[in-house]
Amino acid sequence: VVLRGMGAVAIAALALLTGCEKNLTTGRSQAIALSWNDEVAIGMQEQPKMVKEFGGVVPQAELRAYVTEVGNKLAATTAQDDPILGKIPWEFTLLNSPVINAFALPGGKVFMSRGLAEKMTNEAQLAAVLGHEIGHVAARHTNERIARVQYTQGAIGIVGALLGTGGGGDLLASIAGQGAQFWLLSYDRDQEIESDLLGVRYMTRVGYDPRGSYQVMQILSSTDKQGRPPEMLSTHPYPEKRMENIQQWIATDYAHTQNNSQFSLREQEFRSRFLSKLSAAYPDYDTSPEMTRFAMTRSCDRSCEHGASGVGGHAHECAQH
Ligand SMILES: [Zn+2]
Repeated sequence: VVLRGMGAVAIAALALLTGCEKNLTTGRSQAIALSWNDEVAIGMQEQPKMVKEFGGVVPQAELRAYVTEVGNKLAATTAQDDPILGKIPWEFTLLNSPVINAFALPGGKVFMSRGLAEKMTNEAQLAAVLGHEIGHVAARHTNERIARVQYTQGAIGIVGALLGTGGGGDLLASIAGQGAQFWLLSYDRDQEIESDLLGVRYMTRVGYDPRGSYQVMQILSSTDKQGRPPEMLSTHPYPEKRMENIQQWIATDYAHTQNNSQFSLREQEFRSRFLSKLSAAYPDYDTSPEMTRFAMTRSCDRSCEHGASGVGGHAHECAQH
């Protein structure tokens, strides 16, 4: 009888902690554990810790400013879907780390590593990565993950397994006490695909060619084949499935962006304003056009073998081999 009573209390506590809300960005109803205020508070509190954990910021202010400029341009379009997204403190951090990764904290804090930036060849690829991370924030994917754990593990599980505090207490305070690894748990496949689609939505709103999104997946895939898998694939898994989807969107809903001068990859701008300066600052890292071309060709060859048609220019290159 006592146990039953405790169960009822636990269920009541769950009902209080977890609600269901329709997300205006995705149009999908989702389980939610934290308010927007909570998410912003977590982002503000955790952002400096993540910076410290992952190598600090790249010291060159102009390189950081470039990433911020592209990020803000994309973030400014999010309020078209949900007005609250126009009020959260978006922040884009270029981490001085050679690993290949990008991630986001709840409440608008987005991070990208120097290692990933060095692999890119145009601004549309940068926009795709930042847009994808903005998508995780707008779709409240971490919030959703916390809510799901609450459902599956119950009220005691919340404290024990997720929060690790060993006692009751405030959910927000407990979550904010988590280490960096908590924020780097991987998303599920549907969340990844949803973020890819949101990334494509944001980047095309400001005139980027969505092929940049596909190219990012090619970069990750070719890096994967060259040796150690990039960290980005552990935080953002399912690359093959995602490539298929991106290719399909470009061929259908976003077909109007192809062979259309209003949508560009912005390669020149990226090289002159960002990549050349990054390469000069970190010369040990191989960012030569030859290597990049090599990586691109390799992944192109692979998609030919698999009978994929490729996207835009790459399909062309494949056909000529
Ligand atoms: Zn992701």
